[in-house]
Amino acid sequence: MTGNAAYPGACEFCAGYWMNYAPQARAVTLGKSDEFMAEVRRCRRCGTYWEVGAFSNPQVISREHARRELPDLDAVEASLGIDFPEPPDVPLP
Ligand SMILES: [Zn+2]
Repeated sequence: MTGNAAYPGACEFCAGYWMNYAPQARAVTLGKSDEFMAEVRRCRRCGTYWEVGAFSNPQVISREHARRELPDLDAVEASLGIDFPEPPDVPLP
């Protein structure tokens, strides 16, 4: 099974995290935004960006949106040294 209407483009690995909370399925935390009151994470398997809000449901976001929340996104990713795959090419808010 691939795809999940609630989490467009996300693989079953990272989308499934919100059901089983398996530590190995947890996307990598890239940083936190005080302005958005959210954490930005990225899946090692599919490259999907996630916004995990303090007061909202987790959602898939675009790289552009992730960059608005974390202006130093590129530097953070470079410093992590993780070879993330390109995020899925799906329309996102
Ligand atoms: Zn994924």
